[in-house]
Amino acid sequence: MIVPTSPKAGYLAYKRQIDAAVAGVLDSGWYLLGDELRRFEVDFAHYIGVGHAVGVASGTDAIELALRACGVGAGDLVLTVSHTAVATVAAIERCGAVPGFVDIDPVTYNMDPNRLEAAIHKAGRPVKAVVPVHLYGLPADMKAIGSIAREHGIYVIEDCAQAHGAAIDGRRVGTFGHVGAFSFYPTKNLGALGDGGCVVSDDPALADRVRSLREYGWQQRHVSTVPGVNSRLDELQAAILGVKLKHLDDETGRRQEIAAAYDATLGALDMKLAMTPGGYMHVYHQYVIRTDQRDELKRYLSDHDIATLIHYPVPVHRQPAYAGRLLDIGSLEQTQQAADQILSLPMYPQLTNSQVAQVAERIVAWSRRSDVS
Ligand SMILES: *Cc1c(COP(=O)(O)O)cnc(C)c1O
Repeated sequence: MIVPTSPKAGYLAYKRQIDAAVAGVLDSGWYLLGDELRRFEVDFAHYIGVGHAVGVASGTDAIELALRACGVGAGDLVLTVSHTAVATVAAIERCGAVPGFVDIDPVTYNMDPNRLEAAIHKAGRPVKAVVPVHLYGLPADMKAIGSIAREHGIYVIEDCAQAHGAAIDGRRVGTFGHVGAFSFYPTKNLGALGDGGCVVSDDPALADRVRSLREYGWQQRHVSTVPGVNSRLDELQAAILGVKLKHLDDETGRRQEIAAAYDATLGALDMKLAMTPGGYMHVYHQYVIRTDQRDELKRYLSDHDIATLIHYPVPVHRQPAYAGRLLDIGSLEQTQQAADQILSLPMYPQLTNSQVAQVAERIVAWSRRSDVS
């Protein structure tokens, strides 16, 4: 059986170092907000290329606290995409804000900046923040989104949950907006062995606000100056992430190799492959292909012991929790079409070349078969 992703393989690859890091924390007697977290925050900020990183309990919390640090609150309008993890939208609503959806570019699957401009005008009231998502590991068009946001005085909070290390012209995601939000969910490119997240920013005041919000709004111990929450990246996860961060660039390189192998074999077929605009660095959290016979292909691969996933089968605006109570600020036709046609192929650094070849060859075999029938 070839699986789509494997956090266990990601643990076993560095088992000795991770086990030693975990034992060190257990022995230290200090389990929250200690040296491991401080060290990881410094290393991660340095890796991304920002001044400040603040560890929190999850990627969803990272987005919520980033928004709140920017002053987003009850009733504020926040624009994002519907083609994303529900977490993006849940975080917006958790700070009391109202999400509005912008359609995607059908080639990159990321927010279409032209649609953003249109949505800002159609909204008919001020937009407080925009949350572009760097979906699948490909950066959104931050040049265009940033300039539209500046022109309208809108905060930019990047959802970097799938894009650790992805870059445009050598500049990493998380450095384009006012704030960047990362997830360390186990299957992410940089994955903890449990929940975790991080907020990054070059603005010391914003970073300080997140630091305070993650611990009951304390400025000093037991003095809450703003209403905060409890959202901490624990010492065990910080130590594990410290080990894995050292291997992140190698792992990204391996993901890119796998993507190149898929590209080479599938390029001749009549289906859309993952694409990368010039100057962009894709980190392939997912390798997504697109075909109007997606369900058939998924079944065929499954019959041949290859498991695939769909990210995401139902856009957020069509989910029962959200449908029917959202602002209409423009068509989401590209979002809907993508959801019906996309398929995420197995992608994780420990996949072997032979497994990658098997997946690609099975897809070639399927495409020949369906030509004939
Ligand atoms: C995983 C993910 C999140 C949420 O992260 P959690 O750590 O699971 O809370 C947010 N946005 C996107 C795009 C994600 O993929």
